[in-house]
Amino acid sequence: MIPVLIVLNAGSSSLKFQVFDMPDGAEPELVWKGLYEGLGGSAHFIVKDASGAPLDEMTWSSGDPIGHEEALMHLVSWLSRFREERRPIAIGHRVVHGGDAFSKPVLVDDGVIQRLEALVPLAPLHQPHNLEPIRIVRRRLPGMPQVACFDTAFHQTQSDIATLFALPSGMRERGVRRYGFHGLSYDYISSVLKDYDPRLAAGRVVVAHLGNGASLCALNGGTSVATTMGFSALDGLPMGTRCGAIDAGIVFYMLREMKLSPEDAERMLYTKSGLLGVSGISNDMRILRSKAKGDVNAKRAIDLFVYRIGREIGSLVAALGGIDGLVFTAGIGENDVATRAEVMTGLPWAGFNLHEAANSAGGPQIAFGPGPTAWVIPTNEELVIARQTRSVLDAGQARLAS
Ligand code: AMP
Repeated sequence: MIPVLIVLNAGSSSLKFQVFDMPDGAEPELVWKGLYEGLGGSAHFIVKDASGAPLDEMTWSSGDPIGHEEALMHLVSWLSRFREERRPIAIGHRVVHGGDAFSKPVLVDDGVIQRLEALVPLAPLHQPHNLEPIRIVRRRLPGMPQVACFDTAFHQTQSDIATLFALPSGMRERGVRRYGFHGLSYDYISSVLKDYDPRLAAGRVVVAHLGNGASLCALNGGTSVATTMGFSALDGLPMGTRCGAIDAGIVFYMLREMKLSPEDAERMLYTKSGLLGVSGISNDMRILRSKAKGDVNAKRAIDLFVYRIGREIGSLVAALGGIDGLVFTAGIGENDVATRAEVMTGLPWAGFNLHEAANSAGGPQIAFGPGPTAWVIPTNEELVIARQTRSVLDAGQARLAS
């Protein structure tokens, strides 16, 4: 029987998982990754090996719907049946919000669950889905160690001023501050920078996590000093369906003049805005790029995305006092050659020396000196969760042994 870690990332109707072997003294090693989608309706399960080759799949009919609980139990039983038996010894969860309290991953107990539940109002669209599998595991697999790994934690190194809103001080005491998100992705990039360029790892770097969710992070010597997302995952850059930073007055206008309910206003800002809202076509950059030549709205959506990235990079470079490197990551950052080129050519003051052939080839280095360098580095949030889960387990064992 091979002991493995399971990494879970739960959404409202989906459950993404990765399974890691834990070789002694080495990084956790991905063996399988997969997804349950359509939970609550006609659910589908697919699992692939580490190279992406499909291994197994299954579909449940809508007359026989399964939820997160059945999906999780199906996964545990699948692990014990498929090829060599693999037995989960711990589960690491992506949890979007750790609030002020959690600056590191934490072993889950009832007290931790209660404290994470209290953070639901800070991330109402994500936190409840992240907590559900944690509760299910406690009920169905009692004794299974679980570790919560937070998207906010990496940004806890930011200064008080960088996290403060200019609101009455009581609001800060209520927890209304800039937290920042995508921290698991930035943690990964920070951890591998030295493999690409040791000077970069010690320097001033802006990381552009450009996926369906998008944000930027300013790293100084590998730690976060500023980021574009704030109190919620709505702030900063326009995203696939989220608006990014907007004037707070617009929300009052929506509520008072348009008579939208808070729920409808929230839905518009989270799910109908961004690339989708501006283009009226899609939140998918591939589709927008394919239409941009003939469709003025597709082009405007892309132009706004690139323009806002450029302006926010300027803001983070000011916070860093200069820039030594720019890193592109996540779906758009890793794959969209044109977005990378447009962002860099839109920043002539920064002095990027873009190498077009290297950019078309996907890097990793796409701008060479004498100015700041630029890189394409694939992110790996699940590996960070696996690393963090293992380190929490190891620390617990060390405590027991001492
Ligand atoms: P993520 O949330 O990191 O999975 O990223 C999703 C975004 O990446 C979507 O907007 C996709 O259109 C975009 N994306 C994925 N592959 C490509 C590609 N080959 N070219 C351009 N955009 C891509």
